[in-house]
Amino acid sequence: MIIDSHGHYTTAPGQLDAFRTAQLARLADPSAPPAVLAAISDDELRASVEANQLRIMRERGGELMLFAPKASAMGHHVPDPDVARAWAEASNDVVARVTALYPESFAGVAQLPQTPPDGAPGPGWLDATIAELRRSVTELGFVGVLVNPDPSGSRWTAPAVTDEAWSPLWEACVELDVPAVVHVSGTCTTAVHPLGAHYLNADTTVFMQLVENDLFTRFPTLRLVIPHGGGAVPYHWGRFRGLAARLGRPDPAELLRNVFFDTCVYHQPGIDLLLRVVPAENVLFASEMLGAVRGADPDSGVDWDDTKVYLERVDMSDEQRDAVMGGNARRVYPRLDARLREQGR
Ligand SMILES: [Zn+2]
Repeated sequence: MIIDSHGHYTTAPGQLDAFRTAQLARLADPSAPPAVLAAISDDELRASVEANQLRIMRERGGELMLFAPKASAMGHHVPDPDVARAWAEASNDVVARVTALYPESFAGVAQLPQTPPDGAPGPGWLDATIAELRRSVTELGFVGVLVNPDPSGSRWTAPAVTDEAWSPLWEACVELDVPAVVHVSGTCTTAVHPLGAHYLNADTTVFMQLVENDLFTRFPTLRLVIPHGGGAVPYHWGRFRGLAARLGRPDPAELLRNVFFDTCVYHQPGIDLLLRVVPAENVLFASEMLGAVRGADPDSGVDWDDTKVYLERVDMSDEQRDAVMGGNARRVYPRLDARLREQGR
């Protein structure tokens, strides 16, 4: 079975964006009217994916997509926890409606309201975050969650994800048996492009945090997915090994009991390298469609994000390919596997 483990609802009906715009307008000017999400019909939801993600996934031979709200719009750096909570709830609710309309094609991955109260991590800073995680999993049936390791939006004011401050969130992920996809959002400076720099920087930064400090000795069953091919990690695996040795830390290969990478890498040499460095059992097929990079490579004619094409050209066994294309996702996302089994798949 072919599971695209990384998709975003970037084509949601305009009412959702209008709701966010109204939220931000009221933050800027408290005399502005309160944000209200206008009604969205099932037909509008169907049209929004049938013309886009669903059509393209089917054309490319995919069967199911893990579907999250638009990550660049999560905006945890916008300084109002109540606004963040309402935004996460609205975003997750529309994703949940799509997954309910197409239970065989989409499974939900949640956005969390990670904006810290008082503007900085402190006691209880994850309370609303964990409440929305629980709601998304237990009430909306989501199978995974996006966790932003830098809610400050490129200022990196939060402690490393290995810090005790994050433990309540990791405890909840373990208890609910959902993996956390490490995924930042927008940035606060035009010097750091969200999609071309911040996303990849954050993937790399979190891996180095895991190299430097223990997380999985405290949470041995926690699973983290580092998207976008792991940022610079596969390319610089030797640097991470050398730094680990220098710091008196275990070889980074030990992290691969808990850390997985996806294939949102948009050229053949990058995919080849990823699978030469990282074992196939730690790699999840993903396209991030429709996401950061759209259109086709003019040299090859292949859509940038049609990562299945690149994977088909990698020299690996049929067993390994099946694992990358879907088996690994079912292992990393047990709630997805349970749903698929209920569907007889
Ligand atoms: Zn993404």
